[in-house]
Amino acid sequence: MSVTKQLLELFRVDKQLRGLKGRLDQAEKFLNQQQLLLSELDKQKTTLETQLKQLRVQIAGDEGEAARIEAKVAALREQMNGARTAKEYSAFQNELNAFKEQKSQIETRVLESMGKADECAKQVDAIKGGHGDRVKIVANAQADRDKKAEEIKDRVAELTAQREQVAQKISARERAEFELLIKLRGDEAMAPVEIIDRKNHEYSCSACMMAVPVEAVSALLGGKLTHCPNCRSILYTEEVDFLGKDKASGKKPKAGAGA
Ligand SMILES: [Zn+2]
Repeated sequence: MSVTKQLLELFRVDKQLRGLKGRLDQAEKFLNQQQLLLSELDKQKTTLETQLKQLRVQIAGDEGEAARIEAKVAALREQMNGARTAKEYSAFQNELNAFKEQKSQIETRVLESMGKADECAKQVDAIKGGHGDRVKIVANAQADRDKKAEEIKDRVAELTAQREQVAQKISARERAEFELLIKLRGDEAMAPVEIIDRKNHEYSCSACMMAVPVEAVSALLGGKLTHCPNCRSILYTEEVDFLGKDKASGKKPKAGAGA
């Protein structure tokens, strides 16, 4: 078997493997994206919940403070009733005003905090809804990924074993060259030579569509590893075409059928 045929066999096994793994990779990618979105939602939720907790602690503290001031004010009013001089009364009055001012500031702050807490609680609720949906999406994506992995598992093992067998017949240098081409050109690492005009020895590379000189085709038919001079794909021939047979039946085309 020529090295080209061996590489072609490897190429075809690899192509199947890439196709199978490609589908799994997509499922994996989708799962990762969804997990990332979910973790972002988690972070937002935690931040908002912490914020809400802090606001509630602050409100409770302020309300306690307001109640304490209220008690002081009540006590002060009692004392005012017992004021003996206008000066004493005025001093109490000043103290009372200071307390009232302090209380009013606290009450304003409580109202602000309550507004913020309401807003925060609304956001937490909204996130909880989206969070539940996202959890379902992630679970489905996970199941899909696992299912795909399971589906291809046996075939991948089979193809991998087949690949090993084919690969060991090829020299390390040629294999390395082939692997590099796969990295660079993927499914176009190998390309069949197309016959444009057999009589006039016109051929082209089916990957890049550029002409392939007859010398290259001869070398290829002689069993030599041949690259397309233009795109560097490894060229191969589809035997039936080169023997001039009908592709489907393997028989010579009937007279008058156009061959
Ligand atoms: Zn080419």
